[in-house]
Amino acid sequence: MSEDKFDVIIVGAGVAGCVAGYLLATQGLDVLIIERGSEAGAKNTSGGRLYAHTIEQVFPDFGLNAPVERVITQERLSFMSEQNCTSLLYSFAPDDEPKKRSYSVLRAKLDKWLAQQACEAGAELITGVRVDDLLKKDGKVCGVISDGEELEASVVLVADGANSIICAKNNLGFKPDKSNCAVGAKEVLTIGEQAINERFGCGSGEGAAWLMLSDATQGHMGGGFIYTNRDSISLGVVLGLEAASECETSLPSMLESLKSHPAIAPLIKDAKLSEYSAHVIPEGGFNAIGRLSGDGVLVLGDAAGLCINIGYCVRGMDMAVDSAIAAAKAVVAAKSRGDFSAAVLSEYESELAKTASLSDMRLYKNAPKLLANERIFNAYPKMINSIMADIFSVNGTSEPLRKKLASGLKKVGFLNLIKDLYRGIKSL
Ligand SMILES: Cc1cc2nc3c(=O)[nH]c(=O)nc-3n(C[C@H](O)[C@H](O)[C@H](O)COP(=O)(O)OP(=O)(O)OC[C@H]3O[C@@H](n4cnc5c(N)ncnc54)[C@H](O)[C@@H]3O)c2cc1C
Repeated sequence: MSEDKFDVIIVGAGVAGCVAGYLLATQGLDVLIIERGSEAGAKNTSGGRLYAHTIEQVFPDFGLNAPVERVITQERLSFMSEQNCTSLLYSFAPDDEPKKRSYSVLRAKLDKWLAQQACEAGAELITGVRVDDLLKKDGKVCGVISDGEELEASVVLVADGANSIICAKNNLGFKPDKSNCAVGAKEVLTIGEQAINERFGCGSGEGAAWLMLSDATQGHMGGGFIYTNRDSISLGVVLGLEAASECETSLPSMLESLKSHPAIAPLIKDAKLSEYSAHVIPEGGFNAIGRLSGDGVLVLGDAAGLCINIGYCVRGMDMAVDSAIAAAKAVVAAKSRGDFSAAVLSEYESELAKTASLSDMRLYKNAPKLLANERIFNAYPKMINSIMADIFSVNGTSEPLRKKLASGLKKVGFLNLIKDLYRGIKSL
């Protein structure tokens, strides 16, 4: 057994781990963060857009100080079929209140900055080291085991992401399977700051968040995304894991197909590939959140299943921050009582229950069921584009508009449409 005993060992230097590490170190606790990647952020992927409402509570003026890419001032939602694309574009001025803003971010930069904040506050970070399991004495967690070495702590925060080996071995957290996960592949494509401003119609420092229901996923649950960074774009495809196992086309081929879509290809002309990554996304929602605490242990962020996809909005990073805030409160209270038992640490669950993240997860608990409906990813984008094509083409004597609409709607079936609308309104 090591001679050093930490107050807290944190597994994973992602958003959840670094923020928890920062908060606990600022409260004077001895914190060790262990990250398997060569540095914080080296192994992490997100679309990614960070909603600032939680991180601004931890780092006021986050948007000014952190290495964010652009403040989001454009929302795009597109319905794509093979050659066509119907889009909704909503542009807006950045909110005066920083916590109401959202930013495009690159995890390689963001996580490094978060880890630096934790270290400056006094946390210790070791990288390039994988935690293999929790260390237990009399059934209580009292540290971690890494490469045969035992490191002791009063409490361990498991923040090792969606595919947590620690959770799997210890019956904790989110249990990934093909029904509750998606997989995302993403490229960062450098095209230059000016090209982004021109091609996306963005002001300097302002950016777009773009989600696409696309035939790139061949009608299966998933879609494409683009987030504009300072001088690059993050472009990716997300596919439900169940569909991924049934599809004949691989995820990388789907990404290529999206890149060659007529609505996308001109935007990435002359782009240079600077990063490629793929990652699992826990999309099971509220009902898939796993066991969050035990004697000497708490589970945070994706490892807990705290992530939602509601079709037009994907969130996990802000939820990881909320879980870090709640965990830090519970650990500080446990430290002051000198008691890290499950009963005392369960304050984490009570704190988490008060957060916007958990309330939103509860609110959208039926979203995964809604998104299991493949018509959303196949029939509807096709229907919308075919109606648009009929409405906007003039090639002789026209039919009445209502007839054009009806023939488009017939392709999906009125009953299906009514059923899906009813379910959709109920779920969201
Ligand atoms: C394609 C894609 C798009 C997404 N888009 C968005 C978006 O736009 N907005 C949003 O908010 N969220 C998005 N998400 C979700 C978001 O990325 C996650 O919810 C978020 O990263 C969770 O943070 P975390 O700290 O819990 O886990 P992670 O960021 O996964 O961090 C876990 C850390 O633990 C480390 N680790 C793992 N195992 C071990 C081990 N055994 N020992 C030591 N270290 C270990 C990993 O290397 C990693 O650094 C997206 C995800 C994907 C994959």
